[in-house]
Amino acid sequence: MEIVNNISEMRQHRSQLTTPIGFVPTMGYLHEGHLSLVREAHTGNKTVVVSIFVNPTQFGPGEDYKKYPRDIKRDLVLLEEEKTDIVFMPQDEELYPENFSSYVDAGEITTRLEGASRPGHFRGVVTILAKLFNIVQPDSAYFGQKDAQQLLVIRKMVADLNMHLEIIAVPTVRTPDGLAMSSRNTYLTTKQRRAATVLYRALTFSQYLWDGGENNSETIRQQMISLIKKESLADIDYVSIADVETLKEIDEINPPVLVSMAVKFGKTRLIDNIVLK
Ligand code: AMP
Repeated sequence: MEIVNNISEMRQHRSQLTTPIGFVPTMGYLHEGHLSLVREAHTGNKTVVVSIFVNPTQFGPGEDYKKYPRDIKRDLVLLEEEKTDIVFMPQDEELYPENFSSYVDAGEITTRLEGASRPGHFRGVVTILAKLFNIVQPDSAYFGQKDAQQLLVIRKMVADLNMHLEIIAVPTVRTPDGLAMSSRNTYLTTKQRRAATVLYRALTFSQYLWDGGENNSETIRQQMISLIKKESLADIDYVSIADVETLKEIDEINPPVLVSMAVKFGKTRLIDNIVLK
């Protein structure tokens, strides 16, 4: 496994790699969710490149950029076990020099859900991915369904800017009690961790209500909200039932639809979603 810390070295390696190349961008502090992307990347490619970069431009003021969990040593052990070919860990100063000024904006879809709650977040996400795609030049890049809106936004950028790579979605990996794996779960206290299972309980409740014949999305949304509010530690940011493509809220359910939410436990903000079938 090669560890590459700068852009010119990455480009040099790139020219010698066996194609097709699968790419897994991450912010590190890896868990089984990330590793499932790496495994998926292995199935369709000859070479797998993983990046670890905590991207400052996707964090808003007052968010957790400074204290985002980091454990590079452990990450490298896990990636070595997964037979990763190259780990790209660029430096902040090289990706964002003082005179950096060009950003990519994927438009309307970034104004909804996560974009509405975290202004500027997707501009940062899309910009860093455009840069990483230009540097690594992968044939395919792998992203988790856990960040459903991120997937849509990236697909939009790739289509709009005619980028020559395939975006592949990988299902959400959960702990046995249903909580979606996330680097941010580490912030939770024991009580918050227990309460956080309410996200997946509320999502599966929506599927249950739909299966039982309820097709009014506001009725389902309100029942989900009541369920979540039973957990006193949960502070709802949004619960959404939206079109899977446009992310516009819908009145009547006509699957597939995206049921998604953001809920805070203390300062820790968790997101999760399912696609109603
Ligand atoms: P992050 O390091 O949080 O930026 O995540 C890097 C990639 O891993 C993104 O494509 C995420 O959607 C994906 N990911 C994070 N958590 C999970 C999970 N529990 N299951 C599947 N993919 C995940």
